Amino acid sequence: MRNDRLSLEEIARQVDAKALDYCALSDRIWSMPELAFEEHRSVAEQCTILEREGFRITTNAGGIPTAFVAEYGQGGPVVGILGEYDALPELSQVPGSLKHEFATQGADGHGCGHNLLGAGSALAAAALKEALAIEGIAGTVRYYGCPAEESGGGKTYLARAGLFDDVDVAFCWHPHVINEVSATSTLAEIQVYFRFHGRATHAAMSPHMGRSALDAVELMNVGVNYMREHMPTDARVHYAVTHTGGDAPNTVQAYAESLYSIRSPLLPDAQRLFARVKKIAEGAALMTETTLVVQIAGGSSNIIPNRVLQEVMYENLCRIGPPTFDEADYAFAKQLRETALAEESVTANISSRDPSLSSKIFHEGVLSLSSREEVEMGTTDVGDVSWIVPTAQCHTACFAIGTEFHTWQLVTQGKLPAAHKGMILAARTIATTAADCLRNPAIIIRARAELKERLGSHSYVCPIPPEVMPEDLRKKLA
Ligand SMILES: [Zn+2]
Repeated sequence: MRNDRLSLEEIARQVDAKALDYCALSDRIWSMPELAFEEHRSVAEQCTILEREGFRITTNAGGIPTAFVAEYGQGGPVVGILGEYDALPELSQVPGSLKHEFATQGADGHGCGHNLLGAGSALAAAALKEALAIEGIAGTVRYYGCPAEESGGGKTYLARAGLFDDVDVAFCWHPHVINEVSATSTLAEIQVYFRFHGRATHAAMSPHMGRSALDAVELMNVGVNYMREHMPTDARVHYAVTHTGGDAPNTVQAYAESLYSIRSPLLPDAQRLFARVKKIAEGAALMTETTLVVQIAGGSSNIIPNRVLQEVMYENLCRIGPPTFDEADYAFAKQLRETALAEESVTANISSRDPSLSSKIFHEGVLSLSSREEVEMGTTDVGDVSWIVPTAQCHTACFAIGTEFHTWQLVTQGKLPAAHKGMILAARTIATTAADCLRNPAIIIRARAELKERLGSHSYVCPIPPEVMPEDLRKKLA
């Protein structure tokens, strides 16, 4: 017989019993910010604590040195809980400061709260396995340590390696300024290097001997910018010139490259757009008599939302309720808001869902589950998991309303008690929702049926070709 209350209370008890340890884990990861695919110490910290909990650890998952899987239990349905832990460049910040000040000049920082994301998901996995044992529910709990969400798409590599193929349902969360279950999809993305090889020569004495790779980069960009008028309005193409060919105008540039990001609400459309961009690059090479090497640098699929799981998660988020922020939380957030937070953007966006939010310091409610499936103009590698496994995500309030992602204002709040409160809420929500799925496999059956229906005739094709590994991308000049 189902007894929802038992699980909710048991999980709350387990989360609370472990919360101090996992908040400390989040703080340690915050203090050792590591960039994409370099998260060795953050991985070691998580493996240590999960091993102590009795999880079986597989390191080097999918051949990626900073990916790992921690598994507990056997048989029954398999629940996947996704964690991240990569930081962002040059966002070092003194914690809890009200002004922008580097903790270490030029160092990296946790500007997207992935310290909380990884520790919170690990806490959910640890609390879930205790509750299952106590309640005698069969199932396997798997925490996926996923590197490089910010750049590189760690989960996409794990998906390509088949590591999600036997998972029944998957859950994730992201630290935020609001409490909600996400109903949105995201853009699929393909990242590609276009590398042009020409011939160097003295630009004044023998210009006719040179073939400029920089000319090719420029002509390609011009061509792509003309293409914009003739591509779907919901697609996005952006680029950075990642190698200009050097600083000397009197030498014809023998090598130049650009990195393109091509996005669309559906992966097959992004792939079609990529084919068009590639033709333009080939045209630029033809015009300049240079040669072209195209190298896919990464990619992520769009999210396939799962209404069945969203509804179960939403019910749990509402039952657990939002965090309670105290006077000290408010005092800091209020000062930060007055001195350093933007009035627009995130606040403006969320105000369209609940106009009263713009005047609030913290979100102490739960936004209703949106009935409209909108496409968020961003990309996440959770998308790749969602093509293979029914997946749901929640956002919880860890930061003051008005805080932008990837800013020092977010970094400064990353170790505060308010951030921990949001993380604990996420852990409870994920663990309770996962417990519901394990206790009631009919939810899993319905969630899987929904995924099958949404995919229709499509099946998952990884946007990163089989031969590309993260380390290849460092060999830029190859
Ligand atoms: Zn993030």
